[in-house]
Amino acid sequence: MTMKTDDLIEQEHRYILQTYGRPDFVLERGNGVYLFDLDGNRYLDFVSGLAVNALGYGDYDVLKAIEQQAAQLMHVSNLYHTVPSTRLARTLVESSFADRVFFCNSGTEAWEAALKFCRKWGHTSGGRHKLIAFHNSFHGRTLGSLSTTGQPRYQEGFGPLLPGIDFADYNDLSSVEALVDDETCAVLVEPIQGEGGVHVATDDFLQGLRKLCDDRGLLLAFDEIQVGMGRTGSLWAYQQYGVEPDVMTLAKALGGGLPIGATLMTQRVADALQAGDHAATFGANPVVANVALAVLDKITADGFLEGVARNGQRLRAGLEKLQQRWPERISELRGRGLLQGAVVTDRPGADYLADFREREILVAPCGADMVRFLPPLIVDEDRIDQVIDVFDEILRQS
Ligand SMILES: *Cc1c(COP(=O)(O)O)cnc(C)c1O
Repeated sequence: MTMKTDDLIEQEHRYILQTYGRPDFVLERGNGVYLFDLDGNRYLDFVSGLAVNALGYGDYDVLKAIEQQAAQLMHVSNLYHTVPSTRLARTLVESSFADRVFFCNSGTEAWEAALKFCRKWGHTSGGRHKLIAFHNSFHGRTLGSLSTTGQPRYQEGFGPLLPGIDFADYNDLSSVEALVDDETCAVLVEPIQGEGGVHVATDDFLQGLRKLCDDRGLLLAFDEIQVGMGRTGSLWAYQQYGVEPDVMTLAKALGGGLPIGATLMTQRVADALQAGDHAATFGANPVVANVALAVLDKITADGFLEGVARNGQRLRAGLEKLQQRWPERISELRGRGLLQGAVVTDRPGADYLADFREREILVAPCGADMVRFLPPLIVDEDRIDQVIDVFDEILRQS
C-alpha cells in the first residue's frame, strides 16, 4: 500500500461517519468493466456500483449526455418545464405498463413516493391505509422505506417505525391472503429480492398477487430498483412474469452512475394525486434525465437485452458447474440474468470476497453467506468465464 492510500484511508476513518466497512484500497478511475486503484491495481468489476453501472465506466454516450446538458442547463428546479425530464417520462411510459412518472433522486426516495401514493390512493378509495410488505425485503434506509423493509437488523434502534405495515412470507400467497383486511390498500414486493438474499419470485406467486390485488381492490407495487433496467435480461423484471404492477420504483441503473429515482404508476393511482401532494427539488434534473435517456437508448437497442440474457445464462451455467464440483461448499444458487448469488457454506461470504479481491476481481456481498455477482450489463463471455475459473480456483484452495 502506498503512503497515499494509507493516508487517505486514515482520513476516511477520521472524517466520515463510520457506517460502512470498506476494504483497504482506494478506487481512482474506471474504464469499461475495469476499475483501477490509487496503487495502480486493476480490478474486474462484478459489482457495478451495486447494479448501477449497467454500461460500465467511461461510456461515450453517457459522457456526451452529461457534457452537452451540463453546458446547456444543469438545474432550475421543478417550478419550471425542462426538456430532458419530459422526454424521459415519455420514454419510460412508452416502454412500460405506466401512464405517469414522478421523479426524485434515489431508490429510497422513489420508494417513499410509492408509499405515499399508495396511501393517498387508499384514502381516496374507501379510507384504507394498511400496506403489506415481505420478510427479507429491502426498500431503502429512510424511515418509511425502512418500515417496509422486512429485516430486523436494519430496523433495530430506529423505532417507532411507520404504523400500518404488515409482513408476509415471500413466495407464500396464503400468508398474504391471511393479512388482507378492510383497511389494506396495497401489496409491496420486489420481483426478485436483491439485498435480502437474491430470492426470485415464482410465476405463481406474482400472478397470484396480481389476482389477489384485483379481487380485493388493492394496488400492487413492484420495487425494481435493483432488478429493472435490463438486469434480468428483459427491460423490466415483471415482463418475465406476465403480470403488470400498478406502481413501480426505479433508481440504480437508470442514471448511468448519477443519482435519480423514479416512481411509475397507472392513471388510477395518478388520479388520487394533486398538485402540491409531493415534490423533489432535484427530481430529474436536466443532466441526470439526459443521461437516463442515453442509458435507456442503449439498453433497448437491438440485441442488447438478448446479450444480457445470454450472458446471464452463461454465468449461471458456470456457477452450476462449480456447485456440482463443490456441493459441500456451495449449497444453493439463486438469481436471474446478470444478478446471480451463490450461497457458500464452508466459510463466511466475506472471506470469499477477499479471495476474489486478492485475484483482482470485485464481487458483491449479500448477507453473511452469499457471494453476489452483478457485472455491468456490457460484460462479455470471456470475462464471465474468467470469473468462473477464478471462483473454481478459490474453491479448490479453501
Ligand atoms: C438499493 C435498493 C433500494 C434503495 O436505493 P438507494 O438509492 O440506496 O436509496 C431500494 N430498493 C431496492 C430493491 C434496492 O435494491
